[in-house]
Amino acid sequence: MSRFLVTINGETWFKEEVTQEIGHALRVDKILYEGEVDHQHLIVFENQTFGRLFALNGFIQVSTRDEFIYHEMVTHVPVFAHGAAKRVLVIGGGDGGAIRELFRHQTIDHVTMVEIEGSVVDFSKEWFPGISAGAFDDPRLHLVIADGAEFVAETDERFDIIIVDSTDPVGPGKVLFTEEFYRNCRHCLTDEGIMITQCGLPFLQPEELKTAYDNQRQSFTDPRFYAIAVPAYSGGIMTLGFARAGGTDPDLVTLKARVAAAALDYRYYTPQGHQGAFAVPAYVDHILQTGRFGTE
Ligand code: SAM
Repeated sequence: MSRFLVTINGETWFKEEVTQEIGHALRVDKILYEGEVDHQHLIVFENQTFGRLFALNGFIQVSTRDEFIYHEMVTHVPVFAHGAAKRVLVIGGGDGGAIRELFRHQTIDHVTMVEIEGSVVDFSKEWFPGISAGAFDDPRLHLVIADGAEFVAETDERFDIIIVDSTDPVGPGKVLFTEEFYRNCRHCLTDEGIMITQCGLPFLQPEELKTAYDNQRQSFTDPRFYAIAVPAYSGGIMTLGFARAGGTDPDLVTLKARVAAAALDYRYYTPQGHQGAFAVPAYVDHILQTGRFGTE
């Protein structure tokens, strides 16, 4: 048994060390896979509440029960905020959930996805076929197995939306939080392009949010953040970065009209929730300004 599994009262539990002094545990009802993939520890297991989950190096990445929250909000917010997006770049996102939601929009012509680990795509297709739901076979997809930071530094292509569906800033994900990376993303955006970034849980990882904000500000005039609550990521709200190369946000009437024209159904996204998600708690604003929670 790996160090991520513990026995409590005769039952096996998966233990996630969220920080050095905080952990939480999920009962493991069934282990489907455990091993090393590309030097990373991978476990796929089932839990009655969250369904099927996978964790990389002890950190939960996705659960089948709540993945719709993250994947709907990381995609439909920029698509509807933009209003005429045709070309999208996804960096990371190897589970396929983001591209699944993007391809539901008939208006999107092309998605390039740059994922550093081809094995994540393979095991996601095998163990989580419902997350990508056939999106890897969509002819509009151009899948590139490479470092997303190198890709944006080298490509001449331009995109209406860039979605950085990354891990936290450790290992290969670290470079996706740097000033240089955001600058290169800015150059890859069309005039009214929008960049979305995964910025962690501000209550537990304030430095991740602050770093993203400070570095994005070097290339974008007004980076903002919106909040979602993903139950499988314990520690409160998660923040997603929203930075515009240009253009303005639609008002609610326009947003509703765009959503109606798309004629899709959602389990989380609503136009009102889209706007409301940008009303982040005061402590998030305080972190952006000072890097700290409050006066302590
Ligand atoms: N939704 C999840 C979350 O919020 O934590 C994460 C989605 S996905 C599993 C993150 C992906 O980013 C992983 O598959 C990882 O391999 C990929 N990734 C990390 N660093 C990368 C890089 N530099 N370039 C491209 N992909 C990267």
